[in-house]
Amino acid sequence: MTFLAAARLERRRSIGVAVEALGGLAMLAGLAMLRLNHDTVFAIFMFGGMGLVILGFLYGLLGVRCPARGSSLTWHAYSQLPYGEWSTWLDTLERCPRCGFEPGNAPVANDAA
Ligand SMILES: [Zn+2]
Repeated sequence: MTFLAAARLERRRSIGVAVEALGGLAMLAGLAMLRLNHDTVFAIFMFGGMGLVILGFLYGLLGVRCPARGSSLTWHAYSQLPYGEWSTWLDTLERCPRCGFEPGNAPVANDAA
């Protein structure tokens, strides 16, 4: 099991990526509106899309953290790895690069215990 799956962070990562993609689509729609001379609609879609991209980026950055020490795994990927390897690294990660925490090996929380 990967780090994100074991630490239940996959959904946060997916939401961040989805919001960024939605923002990108909104910006593309905005460009289409510009060609149709709908300037106001263009501005709404463009700035709204930019806002969504920034929001999704920040959500992924602040939401996908190591549960042990709270360091941002997404930030580690952006700051330490070459462009293009971030996504693969995050999706195959098994151990926190900062503190060595492995959620796959942690005892599973059990209410009966
Ligand atoms: Zn850690």
